[in-house]
Amino acid sequence: MSSLLIVNGRVIDPASGLDQVLDVAIQDDQITEIGRRLPRKGAETVYDAEGCLVTPGLIDPHVHLREPGGEHKETLETGSRAGVAGGFTSLCCMPNTTPALDTPDALTFVIDRAARSAVSRIFPVAAATRARKGEEITEIQLLAKSGAVGFSDDGDCIDSAGTMSRVLASVARTGLAFMQHCQESSLTRGSAMHAGTVATRLGLSGWPRVAEEVIIERDIRLNLAIGCRYHVQHISSGESVELVRRARALRLPVSAEASPHHLHLTHEACDGYNTAAKVNPPLREQTDIDALRAGVADGTITVLATDHAPHSADEKHLPFEEAPFGLVGLETALALYAEALVRTGAVSWARLIRLMTVEPARLCNLDAMGLGTLAVGGPADVTIIDPEQQWTVGREDLRGKSQNTPFLGTKVRSRALLTVVAGEVAHDLEPSRRKRR
Ligand SMILES: [Zn+2]
Repeated sequence: MSSLLIVNGRVIDPASGLDQVLDVAIQDDQITEIGRRLPRKGAETVYDAEGCLVTPGLIDPHVHLREPGGEHKETLETGSRAGVAGGFTSLCCMPNTTPALDTPDALTFVIDRAARSAVSRIFPVAAATRARKGEEITEIQLLAKSGAVGFSDDGDCIDSAGTMSRVLASVARTGLAFMQHCQESSLTRGSAMHAGTVATRLGLSGWPRVAEEVIIERDIRLNLAIGCRYHVQHISSGESVELVRRARALRLPVSAEASPHHLHLTHEACDGYNTAAKVNPPLREQTDIDALRAGVADGTITVLATDHAPHSADEKHLPFEEAPFGLVGLETALALYAEALVRTGAVSWARLIRLMTVEPARLCNLDAMGLGTLAVGGPADVTIIDPEQQWTVGREDLRGKSQNTPFLGTKVRSRALLTVVAGEVAHDLEPSRRKRR
């Protein structure tokens, strides 16, 4: 039996509305008590969370862990280490591996391997079409029974409206969500960055916002008579936010997620052919950043993900047009979100925590397992955050296999100090706060 008592922290549990200074007691893999001044005696370890937030373990519904097939970039193990360093206790991994996660066997491989090697919980999202080619639909009901927590062809969009319609109808019967990578491919062929003045200056072919918007608009319309839970991944255009806002006002089952980089950087970050800022969908303009932040503030965007997308240095050293899209985000997301949303007054800490716990848990049905909340008798997944800690993003802070991020050298504030997964300490930045008794 192991026990941990977290004392003096500001306990924020958005699911129950709790927000006050309390103690949290953990025994083995469960939370056993939450209350004022719980007895110290009996606890093997006491953690002093003075000045910190004590929250449900953060949940990232959108990561790329590259296993199987891309182990030189990341593995389930290294990705989970990056995750806990950033405060994440649960990661939902996208199916664009090699081979794709499009069969029950592929899901079983990830689930078993994660159970053996990862330091966080990992849940697979299954592909909706074979090899993510957008043609033949996968065995969606069987995949749902085999552990899929959602469906997506992420990395690619389902271009055919006919296929998309059948996917929505099939996913609707599972009760899970379909998560769309919104990119009308004929509008973006050969494009490496946002269509704007920077692309023109660099002589690169531009990727227009409308490539995202037409897919969102089409899918919302296709889904009207179907009613599948439909989720827009990594929303990047201001007008896309407006489309989601209108759909939600009509009470349609539509949700959207932001990514940290789209709330911070514009296409200017690609200047000098900086491949670290090459991402899909591309970084856009200040008006988009403003609209995305406003979308989070008014409840249009309810999920904050990372779209953690590791690539090796060799791959990112290729010329801009050939280099792969994506950047790593697990270690920096919390600080970047705090900077973009809490420090600007867009949302409170309690709201930010909701968008990183309860909401992603609901999106992927992880709330059914008791995840995303701090409940007595529930799983002991807890993150302790120092909201004021200032740090500069350095290579040593990136715990995954890859370090492709344009935020290296950026000064940020707020950091996960302790990450507890199923009662086990998986990350401890300030061991002096932890006293063994
Ligand atoms: Zn994507």
